[in-house]
Amino acid sequence: MSGKPETSTDAPAAGKEQQSGHEPRPPRIPFAGKVLTSEGGDLRVPAESRKLCALFDTGMWLVSESYKNSPFVTSVAAQARRQGFKVDEPMYVTPDVIAQAYSYASKVDQATVVDENQVRRRIKEVFLKAREAGANDVHIEVADGRTKIEFRIDGSMIVADTLTQKEGETLMAAIWSHSAAQSGATPNWLEPMAAMLRAGQTGKDSLELPEGLLGVRCQWIPIVDGGRYLVMRMHYDNLHIKGGHPDMDVDALGFTPEQTSLVRHLRRLPGGMRIVAGPVNQGKTTTLRVILNRRMAETNYRLNCLLIEDPPEGGIIGARQIGVAASHDEEMRERVFMEVQRSALRLDPDIIMLGEVRDLQTAGFAYKLALTGRQVYTTIHAYSALAIPQRLRDIGIQPYLVYDHNLLRGLVTQRLVRTICQHCKVPFAEAMRQRPQLAALMIRLRTAVALMDAEMMARRDNVTADDIKLQEPDLSGVYVTSGKGCEHCIGGHSGRTVLAEVVETDSRLMALLRDDKVDQARAYWLSHNGLGGLSMLWHAMGKVVKGQVSPEDAEFELGPLARERDLREFEERMGRS
Ligand SMILES: [Zn+2]
Repeated sequence: MSGKPETSTDAPAAGKEQQSGHEPRPPRIPFAGKVLTSEGGDLRVPAESRKLCALFDTGMWLVSESYKNSPFVTSVAAQARRQGFKVDEPMYVTPDVIAQAYSYASKVDQATVVDENQVRRRIKEVFLKAREAGANDVHIEVADGRTKIEFRIDGSMIVADTLTQKEGETLMAAIWSHSAAQSGATPNWLEPMAAMLRAGQTGKDSLELPEGLLGVRCQWIPIVDGGRYLVMRMHYDNLHIKGGHPDMDVDALGFTPEQTSLVRHLRRLPGGMRIVAGPVNQGKTTTLRVILNRRMAETNYRLNCLLIEDPPEGGIIGARQIGVAASHDEEMRERVFMEVQRSALRLDPDIIMLGEVRDLQTAGFAYKLALTGRQVYTTIHAYSALAIPQRLRDIGIQPYLVYDHNLLRGLVTQRLVRTICQHCKVPFAEAMRQRPQLAALMIRLRTAVALMDAEMMARRDNVTADDIKLQEPDLSGVYVTSGKGCEHCIGGHSGRTVLAEVVETDSRLMALLRDDKVDQARAYWLSHNGLGGLSMLWHAMGKVVKGQVSPEDAEFELGPLARERDLREFEERMGRS
């Protein structure tokens, strides 16, 4: 942050005083860098320890000779090492050298003038990196002598940078002082605080946000032992938000070409609901955003699109956002939602995106819109695409509504799986030689791919899959992650891709689901005589054989790639050939 004086003026600098002919003193030690153990330094130590030892950020470790085994000394070294600081072999000195070290430290501290421009640059750098990575949130944690900066990207926390405690505190204080409406206010780090950084703020020490970043909502939270925690929610403009570019379609997220054209088809059907299911933080909102941006662009922005989200995330060009006040009070929430429903209908929308269907009230509203011919897009918590109707039943929607394929037109489910860094990937065969325990995974993979290949071949030749002779699958393109990673990645992974199921409902499928014939419904959906669908497992296998996703990560997300029964079928059918 500031210039580090090489030696201070009053440090017992080696040569000078000896030349000046004073009486001999103990050998002089030149001081340099920061004293980590000083009051307010990066290492928190008891005051007693400061009489007995001093640790510099250069690793220099001064210990009072007669106290070398004191817990006040040994605990400091242990704590420093634990926090990742360098601790050299101890240099045994007299108590007065220790005192000089701290007097040097206080001079250095006074000389530290925080370079405002440098801090501003640093903040901007963090925001730029977050934007490039597509981070929704930036988390900064200052505790235990360290500052950790993490990005939340598609739900995962990724460590972006680490700084010293001091640097982190300076950064946090600067973000506070640059946020709107803080002029003159003194931050109170012992209380939660909230503030907003906005683009285009003017003022002599305003912080310029990088292009594409409209605002940053900041929330500070004190944590134990004097630590501080800051969470920043990034608000990007459409061209920088994930999925906000109108030229982009869902294939860019990882959907197959067939799934992408099915999504396009669903987008063009009039009225009815399209629901995206999946666990939280699995990119459902991004998928909806891409679909709606395409829809708006395709219709030349002639449609009236309303977004009802809590919290509002936006990112759809030409859409109107209706705010839903986040309230913890259930009654208040209900009242607000009633008002939102009324105003939404007054605005005469063609398309409505409802953040989530989670209870009878929201689901009922979605159906009300669908019944009046609007296109409705929403999300729901359900474990698979075909489980969405059952979930609506559980919420309390009447069966005649749930199983009407004109009302519930499209079912999508998705989750995100990490992709392999292409710079440091390791061929599966090679990894198996080093890790024999991968052999069982290999057998499951081989079975899953062989059965999938047979199904795809059957579709192509218009025969049933059972008539296809199984072939040993080609697994030469399968890779796993290196584990240790390289300069291009973190731990061998880089980015995430979608694993999805896309279903266009029809009367036959809905009838099977209504009669609780879930297995038959699934078979109908996946058979080429039926809907010719693609299961999430097959979607994953396609990415595994291309070396995009490791079979280990696919199993982590989806469970075993092949069940006992599949393994037996594979053995039998291979034996037969
Ligand atoms: Zn790598």
